[in-house]
Amino acid sequence: MNLKQLEDSNHHSVGYGAGSGQVINEVYECPCGNGKVYYEKDDIPGFKSTDISCDCKECNEKYTFGRGTAKEK
Ligand SMILES: [Zn+2]
Repeated sequence: MNLKQLEDSNHHSVGYGAGSGQVINEVYECPCGNGKVYYEKDDIPGFKSTDISCDCKECNEKYTFGRGTAKEK
């Protein structure tokens, strides 16, 4: 399913000594609507990482999250 996006903020980062890049932060509503799903992507040379977390315990146990999506486990 697709999650409802609540916030979208992309900002420029000065990087971590390996050049500058983009940091993407997006916040989605969790499937039950009681929590939030946070998507963060650091797109900085030499420091690429993606982090998805959900602060809703129920949905955390029930779903696997992607960028703006949730899949039942
Ligand atoms: Zn939830």
